[in-house]
Amino acid sequence: MLPTVLINGSRGRMGQAVAAAAKDMKITVGGVVDLGDDIAAALRSCDVVVDFSSHAATRTLLEAAVAEGKPVVLGTTGHSTDEKKSLLELAAKIPCVWAGNFSVGVNLLFALTRRATAVLNADYDIEVIEMHHRFKQDAPSGTAARLLEIILDERRLGAEALRHGREGITGQRTPSEVGVHALRGGDVVGDHTVMFAALGERLELTHKASDRGIFARGALRAAQWVVHQPPGVYDMQHVLGLT
Ligand code: NAD
Repeated sequence: MLPTVLINGSRGRMGQAVAAAAKDMKITVGGVVDLGDDIAAALRSCDVVVDFSSHAATRTLLEAAVAEGKPVVLGTTGHSTDEKKSLLELAAKIPCVWAGNFSVGVNLLFALTRRATAVLNADYDIEVIEMHHRFKQDAPSGTAARLLEIILDERRLGAEALRHGREGITGQRTPSEVGVHALRGGDVVGDHTVMFAALGERLELTHKASDRGIFARGALRAAQWVVHQPPGVYDMQHVLGLT
């Protein structure tokens, strides 16, 4: 039997995409919640929450889900590192899929980025470039943040290696830095490129999303999966069996 879903952030672009995808996938939407609505009451009539709202809403959402013992699929991005750390403790009390990107292609990009970073040594300068629509509130995107985590992990570098944009007399690029560039404009759903540039060659791994339905369908796939899992924090790699 398919789980009944509660959509948090239902009036937003992603909330509406989830409602449309649920209809296609014949999944029942048991409730919808947006800014100012009472999530605790709405949760009782649903099996799982799919959240694409605001980072400021995540604590209230998780507290309500823990109190009701309901699984959560968390797609919202924009949490600071400290914010995320304390929220993860809360999320671990229920089954929770937390992913900065629910697309299958992007999850493969994560795996390819890890492999390329491991194979290409420090002769290859790494820069991450992302572009999103003009309405996006946070930068860099959650997907870019995840790509950067993977690169820093493989290169054994800390967050101080990141260079967010460059301006003025920056001096020569050092081998231990990783560039991050966030472009904003128009209606771009989400483009991500990881560039590995050496003297004599350049490898670019690029993913382009043209329809936010891919994230909605991925999040609903995660919702169907997470209702059968024990408490813990998972990501889309677990849902897709890529780990
Ligand atoms: P949006 O601004 O169109 O919609 C956000 C909605 O959340 C709005 O309707 C707003 O009123 C509502 N909201 C704000 N605070 C709330 C609260 N406290 N409780 C309930 N609802 C609240 O934004 P969007 O483009 O739909 O994106 C939403 C989030 O999802 C962003 O963080 C975005 O980066 C993220 N996102 C993630 C993925 C992914 O695959 N993980 C994909 C696309 C977008």
